[in-house]
Amino acid sequence: ILLAVFAIGKTYMVGTSADFPPFEYVEDGKYVGFDMDLIRAIADEMGFKVVIVDMAFDSLIAALASGNLDIVIAGMTITEEREQVVDFSTPYWVADQSVVVSEGSGLSITVLFGDHDIGVQTGTTGDLWVEENLVNTKILTGQFKRYETFVLAMTDLVNGNVDAIVLDSPVAEMYAKSRPVEIVGIIKTGEEYGIAVQEGNKELLNLINEGIKRLQESGKIEEIISKYF
Ligand code: GLN
Repeated sequence: ILLAVFAIGKTYMVGTSADFPPFEYVEDGKYVGFDMDLIRAIADEMGFKVVIVDMAFDSLIAALASGNLDIVIAGMTITEEREQVVDFSTPYWVADQSVVVSEGSGLSITVLFGDHDIGVQTGTTGDLWVEENLVNTKILTGQFKRYETFVLAMTDLVNGNVDAIVLDSPVAEMYAKSRPVEIVGIIKTGEEYGIAVQEGNKELLNLINEGIKRLQESGKIEEIISKYF
């Protein structure tokens, strides 16, 4: 029995924010998406187990830093600010930001300038971009609305309570497929997604990086990509 227990390997708590299709979302009561398959494949490859914990995107870094989570995978961009608090794996994805408006609104990329209301998800790189480039510069004179989830932001957009949302391009494309919204501009940020662990947790970071490498070499990552994109 003791041997069996050793063979099972460690269980790690994995935090995500499951409103970010196709990276993480809920389907039939299960957490699915590219990130979810990726972390499960890394765990299988490297011999550990994972339990997925869903929370607000903005709470993930603090939960990881305080030890309530061991791993965060949430389409999370590697930024200098976050690097101060957590450690990131090798990048596994590159994305830009998109400007999304309600279909038929007649709004274009110029929605970003002047008297329009712009929405973002709190604590995201889209939030930071709008704040730095439009709010601090006073280019935006309308309201800057921060939402806890993209689902709430999209609902407000469709209902005409906000003029545009800024969010990661792959996710904007997914939302545009299933909701009456359209992409009117791309902001070329070229940001890279990484998997985060607690600062200094080299052992786990090495396991994750080795897992990513093996999945790239075996072609398994490509399989997961073609399943979701
Ligand atoms: N990539 C963006 C960020 O890291 C958005 C991630 C998300 O909302 N899940 O801030």
